[in-house]
Amino acid sequence: MRVRFWGVRGTIPSPGADTVRVGGNTACIDIFTSDQQVIILDAGTGIRRLGKKLMKEHPHRIMGTLLFTHTHWDHIQGFPFFVPAFVRNNRFVVIGQKRIGRKLEGVLADQVVQPYLPFGYRALEADIIVKEINNGEMMVIGDDTTVLAHELDHPGGCLGYRIQNRNTIFAYCTDTTHRGNTLNENVLRLAQDADLLVHDAQYSPEQKALYPTYGHSSWTDAAQVAIEANVKALALFHHDPDASDADLRIALAEARKIFPNTFVACERMDITLPITGALPICL
Ligand SMILES: [Zn+2]
Ligand SMILES: [Zn+2]
Repeated sequence: MRVRFWGVRGTIPSPGADTVRVGGNTACIDIFTSDQQVIILDAGTGIRRLGKKLMKEHPHRIMGTLLFTHTHWDHIQGFPFFVPAFVRNNRFVVIGQKRIGRKLEGVLADQVVQPYLPFGYRALEADIIVKEINNGEMMVIGDDTTVLAHELDHPGGCLGYRIQNRNTIFAYCTDTTHRGNTLNENVLRLAQDADLLVHDAQYSPEQKALYPTYGHSSWTDAAQVAIEANVKALALFHHDPDASDADLRIALAEARKIFPNTFVACERMDITLPITGALPICL
């Protein structure tokens, strides 16, 4: 299983001299499995560059699955700039959480119309099939890949995902909090024995105490989940827009005191799971 990071930031893009190593684009990861499945997690601004790369890698036709955790801006705002969605013959199954009174397809369509953007949803000529799912749902994708979704603890709702490709497990738990010292049970379920857990680490423990209702985790929470769920490696993810490369170096050192197999997710990281050699590093 190959995992690439295209956007690792939370909340809002944060380009600049002091974030250049980790990167400033918002959430987007892609996965390529042994059974040739293209799986994209979230469509933050990082998806723009992923789209260009996929067009080169699959010049004839792209068929993929796009998993949305939720529709806060930092997870959907790159979608209107994902070139493969505009190309007829490409096909994407778009998956997100079922909601009462608000369709996922409507939310995505509403951000590409005037007065936000000029072209409208019909300009997306790829075959786009939207599936809304519930907490605990498991999907089979391809011959050897399954996707399990569970609800996380985030304002307005959010799904975490566990992707299993043969014996390799990837867990994606971003935009979630853990209340007090109690680790969220669904996060533990998704992360159990994963080869790589990508976890929300927006805050320091002190910042988390200041913003308890924002629905994010500290890097301490992430490291504690990694221990409790027996994961092999942990990527700190969804970095605060104000966190500089230097701040994240400190976060990494602190998290490694709790769980040594931790790294900071950075744009352009390209990882093969299971990780056999040294952990990736960009700082
Ligand atoms: Zn977010
Ligand atoms: Zn969010």
